[in-house]
Amino acid sequence: MTTIKASCPGCGEVELTSNDVTLMVCNHAAQSYYTFVCPKCTETVRKPADDHVVSLLMSGGVRAEVWELPAEALEPKAGPVLTYDDLLDFALQLGATDLVAAAAGQVPTR
Ligand SMILES: [Zn+2]
Repeated sequence: MTTIKASCPGCGEVELTSNDVTLMVCNHAAQSYYTFVCPKCTETVRKPADDHVVSLLMSGGVRAEVWELPAEALEPKAGPVLTYDDLLDFALQLGATDLVAAAAGQVPTR
């Protein structure tokens, strides 16, 4: 089995086999990545995989899994960025709708 050398941010260079590496090839190449669990520190490491890395890993026997980026992730975002305050306001408003939700769940009586 081919030995694959990769680097862990905490441990440096580590040796893996093709079964240790998961290669995720995206329909938008910039989102392709590979991941592995570091054999020294057991942290999951995820790194981008450009075309060259994809070719190298596949030639080393790593099976590629294809995934598609959801179209909504590519939609242009307009307006201000969501803040923590916006999120808190949203959560508070959800809490205030409990009475509405409870009323909607009641079975009407005659
Ligand atoms: Zn490590």
